[in-house]
Formats: sequence, structure tokens, C-alpha cells
Amino acid sequence: MEPFAWQPAASPSEAASIATHTTAEAMLTLTGRPDTQQAMLIKAGGVDLLDLMKEGLVNPGRLIDISRLPDLDGISGEPDGGVRIGALATLARIAAHPALQQSHAALSQAAALAASPQIRNRATLGGNLLQRPRCWYFRSAAHHCLRKGGAHCFAFPGDNRYHAVFANQGCAIVHASTPATALAAYRAEVELADSAGHRRRVPLADFFVLPQADMHRENTLARGELLTAVWLPPQKPDCRAQYLQIGERAAFDWPLAAVAAVLDMDGTGHCRQASIVLGAAAPVPWRARQAEALLAGARIDSATAAAAGEAALAGATPLSQNAYKLPLLAALVRRAVLSAAAIDTVLPANPGAP
Ligand SMILES: Cc1cc2nc3c(=O)[nH]c(=O)nc-3n(C[C@H](O)[C@H](O)[C@H](O)COP(=O)(O)OP(=O)(O)OC[C@H]3O[C@@H](n4cnc5c(N)ncnc54)[C@H](O)[C@@H]3O)c2cc1C
Ligand code: SF4
Repeated sequence: MEPFAWQPAASPSEAASIATHTTAEAMLTLTGRPDTQQAMLIKAGGVDLLDLMKEGLVNPGRLIDISRLPDLDGISGEPDGGVRIGALATLARIAAHPALQQSHAALSQAAALAASPQIRNRATLGGNLLQRPRCWYFRSAAHHCLRKGGAHCFAFPGDNRYHAVFANQGCAIVHASTPATALAAYRAEVELADSAGHRRRVPLADFFVLPQADMHRENTLARGELLTAVWLPPQKPDCRAQYLQIGERAAFDWPLAAVAAVLDMDGTGHCRQASIVLGAAAPVPWRARQAEALLAGARIDSATAAAAGEAALAGATPLSQNAYKLPLLAALVRRAVLSAAAIDTVLPANPGAP
């Protein structure tokens, strides 16, 4: 790792005004060698940023530490029943928050299954949503791939077992954030602040971008902007939710496949409206619109849940080594729908386990 300076920020607007680049901008090179020693980058928990620096993928001259900024880690209920989560709230606090467990259970479940206890204690929600992709070619300084400004994608002809099965043309990353799958199912918004203190809210669905829209970044965070909070809309009283994932390991790893299901039930076993989002499946949290359409107005039973699982695969374009993800995703959708609707199903004792 190259030497760097350390600067604690005094306020969100100061941090936004000092930052010279986003991390995605600082990682973009023509040569494959990061040449941005003058870059000043935002650091929250540091779990992802320090990793990238240790691998020599980015060499900032200065880190702007926001981890001790006051008032950015609160989790507060809003008068309309929604919830505002400060960007510095850790995954551990989100997982253990009693009110969130009640109001937005799929988010608590997702946060509890991400990474490991040590990492969840350090990792902030803002940093988690902004972490860079896990594609092993992207994470290797020896592979100057398209996403870093190079000319090739190494995953298509190479080892793509962990890559996307939807929207995977050009670059086949999967979105790395586990909580993002649940947040997308709740139709959350992110709050962004600029150096003048102006704040704007952007639906998560517009914040994350596909490679077809921008190959070099995963979101529309602009230079000089800080992610300050995530807003969760209020849930209807009969909304029920479930997050499930399958991985090679039950902890300390990203999932192979995941789903968040949020069902608005009518009290007679029918679903008024469904939100089904797949994780580890696409470069962004992937809305399974055909499954949502199939469930809307339907009575939830084993047959509808299984049909929703199949419908969730519509449009999938698996690569040479990752078609195994399709039955995993279908099974997770089926189980999550039955579980959210509180219909007895055989769930693994440890929902992180295959
Ligand atoms: C072994 C291991 C397993 C893991 N498993 C999982 C998993 O299963 N699921 C999962 O979701 N994650 C997983 N992770 C990733 C981990 O959760 C993230 O690295 C962590 O959440 C990043 O948060 P941070 O606060 O440390 O961000 P940082 O590393 O500080 O920042 C990440 C990026 O966001 C930018 N940034 C941070 N905060 C802000 C802000 N408020 N405004 C603007 N820019 C900002 C930084 O400049 C940087 O580019 C794993 C990590 C490891 C090492
Ligand atoms: S999938 Fe994307 S990040 Fe991975 S090698 Fe291809 S272009 Fe790079």
C-alpha cells in the first residue's frame, strides 16, 4: 500500500467539498496502473476502500475520514411510518434494531447475513451500498478490465461462476451489497448531500446503474457528493417480508443467490401487491417483475409460490459456468414467498446455509 495522509472531516459538507474524486473515478485508468496519488477519497468504515488500496487498485493521496461525523448514524422513525437510516449506521446496528426488525424485517435479515460479525460491526450502510464489485478480475491488479478502463472483459471467456445471470452483456458483475437487495424490495431512496449542504433524494432503482448505461461505475454518486441517509417508505399494516440467501459458506462470504420478498397480504391469504428482488443475480438488485405480476391478486399457496419462482427467471441469460444459479433463485423465491405469507414451508435452520 502506498503512503497516504489522513484527514478527519468536520462536517458532511466539508467532506463533500474536499473529496476530489469518487472511488470509481480514481480507479479508472488507461494504463492499468492507478495514477491518482493526488486523489482525496471519502472513507467510512474503510472495509472496502482499504482492501482496494492494499491490492494496489487505487492509490489516494489522502483519506477523508467521515466515520466520526456526528448525527450520521441515527436510525429514526418518521411521522408517516417510514424510517431514516443514517449512512454511518453499521450493519450490526441495523440487524439488531428492534423497530426495524418489526417494520422492515427483510432489511434486518439481510444485514444480519452479510459478511461476518466483525465486519458488520465496522461496515456502514453508506459504504456497503457504495462498495465496488467483487468480480475477481476486477479485484486483480493483473487484469485491466473494461470496468477499470481497459479493453476486455475477462469474465466472459474466463471463470464466471459467480457472475450475473441477468443484464450481463458487456460486464457481468453482480451487485455486491446484500442489504441493497432488501432495500430495493422496499423501494428505498438514498439521500445525497453536496458541499453546499443541499440534499436530494433518489430512488435506489435510479441510483444504481447497469453497465449498459455506464460501464465504469455502479451508481450515480457524483464527485463532491456524500451519501447521508437511506429512507424507507412506510409499510402497510399487512405487509410481510422475508430475505433469504444461499452461499457456499454461511458467513464471511457474499451469497451465490438471494431474494427479498415483500408481500402486501389482504388477510384472506391473497396477495394485493408483491415486490420480489433478486440479489447476486445482476449488476443491480434485480426486480423480478414477472413474478411480481403473477403474485398480485393471487392466493398464496405452494403452487403459486413455485410458479413465481419460475417466473422470476424470465429473461435470464446465464454464462458458461453460472446456470446453476437459476434453480437456486427459483427455490429462494418460492421459499421467501411462502415464508413471507406465513405459510408453512421447509426452511433451512440456518437461512444462510444452502
Ligand atoms: C470477507 C468479507 C465478506 C463480506 N461479505 C459481504 C456480504 O456478504 N455482503 C455485503 O453486502 N458485503 C460484504 N462485505 C463487504 C463489506 O460489507 C463492505 O466492504 C462494507 O460494508 C463497506 O462499508 P465501509 O463503511 O467499510 O465502506 P468504506 O470502505 O469506508 O467505503 C466504501 C466506498 O464507499 C465510499 N463511501 C463510504 N461512505 C460514503 C458516504 N457516506 N458517502 C460517499 N461515499 C462514501 C468510499 O469512498 C468507498 O469508495 C464483505 C467484506 C469482506 C472483507
Ligand atoms: S465482469 Fe465486469 S468487472 Fe468483471 S472482468 Fe468483466 S468487465 Fe471487468
